[in-house]
Amino acid sequence: MVDDTPRRRKVREIQAVVAEVRDETHDAASLLLDIGAEERDYKAGQFITIDPHQFGFLEQVIAYLEEIKGGREKPRAYSMGSAPHEPHILITVKEERFWPGESKYPPVLSPPLSRHCPPGTELTISGFTGPYTLPEDVTQKADTILHLCAGSGIVPNFGLMKDSLHRGDGLRHILLYSSKTRGDIFYYEQFAALAAAHPERLSIVHSLTREDPVDVHPASRRGRIDADLIATHIRDLSRCLVYCCGPGVLPWERKEARAAGTEPAPKFVETMINILHQLGFEKGQIKQESWG
Ligand SMILES: Cc1cc2nc3c(=O)[nH]c(=O)nc-3n(C[C@H](O)[C@H](O)[C@H](O)COP(=O)(O)OP(=O)(O)OC[C@H]3O[C@@H](n4cnc5c(N)ncnc54)[C@H](O)[C@@H]3O)c2cc1C
Repeated sequence: MVDDTPRRRKVREIQAVVAEVRDETHDAASLLLDIGAEERDYKAGQFITIDPHQFGFLEQVIAYLEEIKGGREKPRAYSMGSAPHEPHILITVKEERFWPGESKYPPVLSPPLSRHCPPGTELTISGFTGPYTLPEDVTQKADTILHLCAGSGIVPNFGLMKDSLHRGDGLRHILLYSSKTRGDIFYYEQFAALAAAHPERLSIVHSLTREDPVDVHPASRRGRIDADLIATHIRDLSRCLVYCCGPGVLPWERKEARAAGTEPAPKFVETMINILHQLGFEKGQIKQESWG
């Protein structure tokens, strides 16, 4: 018998309305998106995309950039910081800036999303997709998830942790989160509350690179995440999976470096992956995602 039940396309366009805006840090805003009756059939850690062409006020800027870049401006991806059991889709957008002498082009979408999307703004988003998720059989493979995050790279890991804690799957989560200063930490209060609610299952270390951590809880230190810090938090390496997200070398940076006959300087994600391999982690134990 032929099954003619219409199949739902996994990635589809969804009409969303900004329900709430939160100033997350001095240069990032969280948007809570209401998607009405649309199914929240995503996995924690996945992302949506937003096509900048939908914003009429960007039309001329986009036309100019498409001419000088020689191609259509692509939709931008935003990880979801929400978990599927939560009513809204959470994205947190860090505003990129144009730095004269450094940046090649002005940023297109992050300034309007982070600054000019008040509640009530209608958006077309596409979703849901992305492989940065926990495997179905995660508890057979691991008892600990190590989260190595920097800057806005915390967003998908926030969703992963909330989902796992909500489901009560027994996994222990260790978050080592690198930020420049206390003011750059995303979801600070929410993480403190989660750690207090799940003391056996969630440990957090804020690693501040440009400031002494005076009033940062539950635990904090000054400096970058390094091999010693990781090693002190791992009990049994063979039962640990790592989710690493933060700044990484972008495709165009790699291309430009190669054209100049050099290798691009490693950023956060490349540095962490090197350390993990030195500590003895296998490739299959590590998932990574990077941007910017
Ligand atoms: C899977 C995934 C998840 C993401 N999640 C998040 C998230 O949760 N939060 C978040 O804030 N961001 C996230 N991002 C990044 C996001 O998609 C955008 O890249 C970011 O918001 C910047 O977009 P923009 O339009 O403002 O800037 P862009 O217009 O993309 O420009 C950004 C910078 O890149 C430079 N640039 C762009 N193209 C070129 C080129 N061809 N050659 C040289 N330089 C170039 C520009 O000069 C500028 O400095 C994610 C990206 C991915 C891939």
